[in-house]
Amino acid sequence: MSSSDERRLGDRIAREIYRDPDYIDDPVLADYVQGIWQPLLAAARARGDMSPELDERFAWEIMLGRDRTVNAFALPGGYFGVHLGLIAIVSSRDELASVLGHELSHVTQRHISRLIAKQGQQTPWMIGAMILGALAASKSADAGNALIVGGQAVTAQNQLNFSRDMEREADRVGFGVMTQAGFEAQGFVSMFDKLQQASRLNDNGAYPYLRSHPLTTERIADMQARQALAPHGPVNAATTLEHAMVAARARVLSNPGVDALRALLVEASGIKLATLAPSRQASVLYGAALAASRLRDFGNAKGYLERLTALVHADAPAARLAKLLEAEIALTAGDAARATAVLATTPPVRSAAGGETAAPRRPELFLGAQIALQSGQVAAVSGAAQRLQSWVAAHPRDAQAWQLLSSAYGAQGQTLRAIRANAETQVAQLDYVAAMDRLKAAQDLVRQGGGKVDHIEASIIDTRRRQVAVLLKEQTLDR
Ligand SMILES: [Zn+2]
Repeated sequence: MSSSDERRLGDRIAREIYRDPDYIDDPVLADYVQGIWQPLLAAARARGDMSPELDERFAWEIMLGRDRTVNAFALPGGYFGVHLGLIAIVSSRDELASVLGHELSHVTQRHISRLIAKQGQQTPWMIGAMILGALAASKSADAGNALIVGGQAVTAQNQLNFSRDMEREADRVGFGVMTQAGFEAQGFVSMFDKLQQASRLNDNGAYPYLRSHPLTTERIADMQARQALAPHGPVNAATTLEHAMVAARARVLSNPGVDALRALLVEASGIKLATLAPSRQASVLYGAALAASRLRDFGNAKGYLERLTALVHADAPAARLAKLLEAEIALTAGDAARATAVLATTPPVRSAAGGETAAPRRPELFLGAQIALQSGQVAAVSGAAQRLQSWVAAHPRDAQAWQLLSSAYGAQGQTLRAIRANAETQVAQLDYVAAMDRLKAAQDLVRQGGGKVDHIEASIIDTRRRQVAVLLKEQTLDR
């Protein structure tokens, strides 16, 4: 299978994942993961693990899943899945980097391509269905449920599992990639320890990652050899305040039911915080503030938030997350004025050259747009639309940015642009049928509009409809 065929297979799988209710594009978590992922990709390029051809052809995209089980996996075409459950249990960026580096290496070493080649006469469509079936089965923390999904999925997963040699190679290459990217080798060792402990507890239900990544004696021996290279042995790297807050967010978002949120608050109120390490305190306070706000208990949310802000104020990345949370909570409470004021005080982002950059980061940009939309103020909405326009020009595959832009156009009464931006959301999520629907609706609107239509936008719509028709045809032929 050529790399473009593999990418098309990956696109087919990704399209289904985007539609899955468990798919989540939380800007704060995604931003944190990107801060680890981009250096790993750069290291893989620098080491020559990733050929320029693969670099160009594949998506290299991480999709987050709300699932609270511990899992990460590589898919065809350079797509990767990461469950929030994994983010919630890792103790440092280095640990997360070790898992992502391993999964990345399965793709750069063409392990996926080799597995697909082994499927022989199966059509790409069948392979895609098998992978989706295996994913559905592995997602379930309840083994009984996995059986209900079907014998087919279980066999599919066995067929699609990497060999022991591939796992060892992904460990070896992944270790090289993560250390070259500047992450601590210790993260690899402590992550391995963490998996080993879970495997001793036979906690397979909560750790689907262990089912696809059994800790064989060879892998453990390799790890012990690497451990000798790590300067301080298998001690856990310190958990930063920022990491503790991100992990707490992943815990809350992967467990959004009312009962779970209440349990989290009860737990937080019973903890003697002063006896805990600062990172543990930050985790408890962040989780409790977010949980309280989700329960619309804004009094409690404010109390936890104030304590969190006091605790982390001297640590810039953690203070930024606390500000973002404060603005998010004000938005949830319907206080757009307060949310705007808080967001305005988030520290400016400095460019590599040392100057202050004008462009906000993705979480700030999206939160700012949501606040503007809620406030309904003309100037605020128009400013948000301009910033989102520049963002999508640089990131045309960002579905959530297009969706927010669509809402901003809609709020300004620019219906044609709103429909086109919504079509781009569908294109970004590879749903060309839905995109064609929107573009046709936009063309109908142009026809009814008579003399008052935006002719530039109308001509963009015609062009996009022709382009998307080609994409749709390709997608249909693939079957
Ligand atoms: Zn693996």
